[in-house]
Amino acid sequence: MNLSTLNKQLIWHPFTQEKTAPFPIPIKKGSGSYLYDEAGKAYLDLISSWWVNLHGHSHPEIAHSIAQQALELEHVMFAGFTHEPAITLCENLQTILPPSLNKFFFSDNGSTAVEVALKMAYQYAYNKTGTKKNLFIGFEGGYHGDTFGAMSLGKTSGFYAPFEDLFFKAMHVPYPSTWNHDTDIESKESNALNKLKNILETHSNHIAAIILEPLVQGASGMRLSRPSFVQKVVQLARTYEVLVIFDEVMTGFGRTGTYFATDQIGATPDFICLSKGITGGFLPLALTVTTANIHEAFLSHDIKKTLFHGHSYTANPIACKAAITSLKLLQDKPTHTSIQNIHQAHQKGIPYLEETLKEKISHTRIQGTIAAFEVNSHNENLNALLKAAFLKEGLLIRPIGSTVYLIPPYSTTAQELEKTYEKIQQILIAL
Ligand SMILES: *Cc1c(COP(=O)(O)O)cnc(C)c1O
Repeated sequence: MNLSTLNKQLIWHPFTQEKTAPFPIPIKKGSGSYLYDEAGKAYLDLISSWWVNLHGHSHPEIAHSIAQQALELEHVMFAGFTHEPAITLCENLQTILPPSLNKFFFSDNGSTAVEVALKMAYQYAYNKTGTKKNLFIGFEGGYHGDTFGAMSLGKTSGFYAPFEDLFFKAMHVPYPSTWNHDTDIESKESNALNKLKNILETHSNHIAAIILEPLVQGASGMRLSRPSFVQKVVQLARTYEVLVIFDEVMTGFGRTGTYFATDQIGATPDFICLSKGITGGFLPLALTVTTANIHEAFLSHDIKKTLFHGHSYTANPIACKAAITSLKLLQDKPTHTSIQNIHQAHQKGIPYLEETLKEKISHTRIQGTIAAFEVNSHNENLNALLKAAFLKEGLLIRPIGSTVYLIPPYSTTAQELEKTYEKIQQILIAL
């Protein structure tokens, strides 16, 4: 039996309506920015395989370091034991994170990194004063993962209607999404800040934390916000003594043009959630990084003040090793150059699309290595049509609704992106 038939019999895929979705494409090999199917057809991976890959597929240096680590120590439970790769990774990350974020809690995916931050924020208040602050604040369009706490904060994504009765208490502030030639941003921002201020004024006594994706909301369609807005959100939260969680699961590790989006904000959160790019896209790993102040509130002779949270694969040494190697590559000069080249390629490609496609597209936007725009069409099947057309042309691009976005791995060259923009233009003209 061929792979597609067996796959259909056995496997239930994520985020997939299995009744209508086309058969998944069996991928045989990955190399650099390309994935190859069974027949040898190449796909240029312009979305970093769900935003995880940084340096290209099957990068030999990461692959070798993983192999070595697997032969040395594959895993050890992380309560009562520790190991060098976990420590080295945190030591190295500390050199590029804000100095106040210096307590590292491991888990293994973006959702769990968020759950851990939510639980820490909640229990922090409980440990300090015995109060139960049972309200969280998120932004409309925010996405934080698919576990229950993360879903409660990402409620407005619209993915979770069947579960809403089970969610814990969260309020959502309007998100002032912005784009090139946006003339309305000041009023959108002040509206959002006023709403936030009202919520804080009324409820700050029982708000455990506010969570946001700094600079770019990923899953709701690469929606940008300005650094000065994020800074004001943090300042407001500080005024009302509410904890701040930055979900950098997608924005971390260079995507926005700096190591972290936080670097552009001019304000530091109490928690930062990292995953996706952390291992260069090789293995699942996540970190919730927080301050000594938060950590201290959990130190006690009273056992109830412990953070009782952990996962079987917490700080898996092989994943940590992949992360160490990936971070080293990220810090190399050529990677910095690649990140700039990708940004510049977007800065040429996006105006080219605007000039040639006119009102077929709108809301163009660029942030670091990320570029996005809306396709203006009344076709109900637009999303599926675009996906299929891109794949046919050998482009792995996966539009969200009518939003087309690119978030390529740093192995992608300016020429590859130039070609990509030409192909996108042709596909949209033919649509
Ligand atoms: C993908 C994502 C998550 C969830 O990460 P998983 O590893 O898929 O659980 C959380 N927050 C943001 C901002 C994300 O983009």
